[in-house]
Amino acid sequence: MSVVTYAQVQDTIARHWGFTALRPMQQEAIQANLKGRNLLLVLPTGGGKSLCYQAPAACRSDQLTLVVSPLIALMKDQVDSLNANGVPAVYINSSLSMEEREENLFAMKQGRVRLAYVAPERLVMEEFISFLQTLPLASIAIDEAHCISHWGHDFRPEYRQLSFLAERFPQVPVHAFTATATEKVRADIVAQLKLADPCVMVGDFHRANLHYRVVPRESEWSQAKQFLEDHRGQAGIIYCMRRRDVDDLVSLINSWGFSARGYHAGMDQSLRKKAQDAFRQEECNLVVATVAFGMGIDRPDVRFVLHMAMPKSLEHYQQESGRAGRDGLEAECVLLHHRQDLVAWSKLMQKSAEESEGDSSWLPVALSHLNEMDRYCRVTICRHRQLVNHFGQQFSIANCRACDVCLGDAEPVPDSLLTAQKLLSAIARCEERFGATHLISVLRGERTENVIKHGHDQLSVFGLMADNTKDQLRDWYDQLASQGLLEKEEFTGAKGVGFILKLNAESWKVFRKERTAVQLWKQKRVEKLRKARTRNKLPALPVEEGLFTELQSLRRKLAGQNGVAPYVICHDTTLNALASHRPSTREGLFLIPGLGQAKINKFGNNMLRIIKQYSHIRGLSMDVGLIENAPTKVVSQSSRPTTHHESWKMFEQGHSVDLTASLLKRAPSTVMKYLEEYLLANPRPSPEPWMNQTDAHRIKEYAATLTDGRLKPIHEHFAGEFTFDQIRIALSWIPV
Ligand code: ADP
Repeated sequence: MSVVTYAQVQDTIARHWGFTALRPMQQEAIQANLKGRNLLLVLPTGGGKSLCYQAPAACRSDQLTLVVSPLIALMKDQVDSLNANGVPAVYINSSLSMEEREENLFAMKQGRVRLAYVAPERLVMEEFISFLQTLPLASIAIDEAHCISHWGHDFRPEYRQLSFLAERFPQVPVHAFTATATEKVRADIVAQLKLADPCVMVGDFHRANLHYRVVPRESEWSQAKQFLEDHRGQAGIIYCMRRRDVDDLVSLINSWGFSARGYHAGMDQSLRKKAQDAFRQEECNLVVATVAFGMGIDRPDVRFVLHMAMPKSLEHYQQESGRAGRDGLEAECVLLHHRQDLVAWSKLMQKSAEESEGDSSWLPVALSHLNEMDRYCRVTICRHRQLVNHFGQQFSIANCRACDVCLGDAEPVPDSLLTAQKLLSAIARCEERFGATHLISVLRGERTENVIKHGHDQLSVFGLMADNTKDQLRDWYDQLASQGLLEKEEFTGAKGVGFILKLNAESWKVFRKERTAVQLWKQKRVEKLRKARTRNKLPALPVEEGLFTELQSLRRKLAGQNGVAPYVICHDTTLNALASHRPSTREGLFLIPGLGQAKINKFGNNMLRIIKQYSHIRGLSMDVGLIENAPTKVVSQSSRPTTHHESWKMFEQGHSVDLTASLLKRAPSTVMKYLEEYLLANPRPSPEPWMNQTDAHRIKEYAATLTDGRLKPIHEHFAGEFTFDQIRIALSWIPV
């Protein structure tokens, strides 16, 4: 068998996928693959796991990579995408006719394909195993590997049977991939698959492009309507707790003038498939669904995931909300929460435990997952931090700028230190022997049976915080715990698992005022489910919206002609880049992320024709800023320096527009344009030295009240206080 080098894989990725840089962990995973190691890679949804097995497979011209995948819909898309990229692949599943299946098996036998996708059910068939044993297998990739563990949230018994792989194919490395796995699930995957000396890699769970919010559910239908109106034209998934909620909401949404499809396990299989296909094909942008919808939905341009009620675990939430923004562009994840959700789920779980005749051992685990989810909704702790911590990772960013808590739906408690002292004092007075529920009763002055029994109504802290709600006090205890200012000790009591709150060395520092940097937060009341504030993160260059729309129709047309989903042709990120850079040649197309040789050969001329026509009619320049993005392989930056590129270097050194213009022998107006692009592409804390920060804020504030983006009204408003260039600088500056 031929030996494949990392350089060959890189070259293949550039040629077939059109990607010039790898995402975090991809390089390491590919290298482990090339070394023939067993592998478990945990990367969040959209992290780019597929490339880690597809690219090495594409290079192994004399071998086959087998991919185990749980869903038929997912297989078709993956195989369509590979073929569109010029990498021969097939799938074998029950959706194929006998002839198609035979044909695909024959292609595998003849060594004409690099990858073959199969469902786990087929892989365990003896006849199929014998067939595979005759083929030169390079590796076996297992997608959605968490399905193998009953500790995960998506256990599938047929995955369990995959443990035979290590015995039947001892020489073939196994590569397991999943987006969601706590430490317990990871260990289980390794054990079940019997991965010898595996390379286990866990990527960063922080999905910075997702904007998380939890909003109290008050008038759910009008909240949903408002939300959809704010997001008209965008693709989104709306999750409901029950099937009947799905049916009700679909009717309502359609009566509001949108077009939505429903999806739940109670629906006829063919209707479900229709809904899923319509969403994939972009014929419909909205799906209202229960948890049944999702795995295998790879549509990358989902701009929001709205939960009408909380899901039953953080793993579910991470997985479901993670379906937004796979393309790396900003997307919103909003959860409508009500305390009833916890009660409703508990009842459903209890009922299904009773119905499961005997084996209800899963119930305590499920209830503790549910409580974690409820806590996520209630506490005023950065949502990203909570999700990342849940998957066993540290979160070092003080303000994520992408969740309701960090963006100011929470306000700081003015006397945080004193509040913390009171909360901790209750723990001390109750001798560190009680959980939050009891401590809260004491602080609120409630004479419960337990409070009286222990004589805690006699304590000095009794009724000390009577003005605060139970939820508020519980939230603060959680905040203190997450800041390391108290400890939680797990115990199992009559009502299940609970926590006793205890003091630690840091708590005593707070008492003694040796530690005064304590900040507690209080949730502001958010009545309306309004649109999230964006983080001012714009694409590096302005996207020409009209061109984007035209390219989108072209994509739909090409998808129809080729019988594939539109995103198989290319993603929105690629369309954005085409609409902003407007390449005029095939070489230019090479510089656009997501376009490799095969796609350019097939679709390039159509794309160029539309870009040229559009730009010509409107007098727009083409090939804007393309050299800066050139991968070194195609156009070496150093061998073709441009004034544009040089000017950015000078801005980095803080040179003024005039100085830069005279050094580069360019008109100041040209250099001014470069500065605008530079500022748009490089968010920074201040617009200085080009403009005073306070003035820039004043300009931005006024500009935010206008709708048409013209500069003249701003100039007139400030009565000539600022030049047009100064206004341009202020508006191009993206504060961080
Ligand atoms: P996952 O399986 O981890 O959810 P995918 O493999 O589906 O993620 O990748 C998500 C998207 O990111 C895909 O559209 C893929 O083409 C794209 N992608 C993967 N790797 C890269 C890369 N290095 N550069 C740009 N885009 C990438």
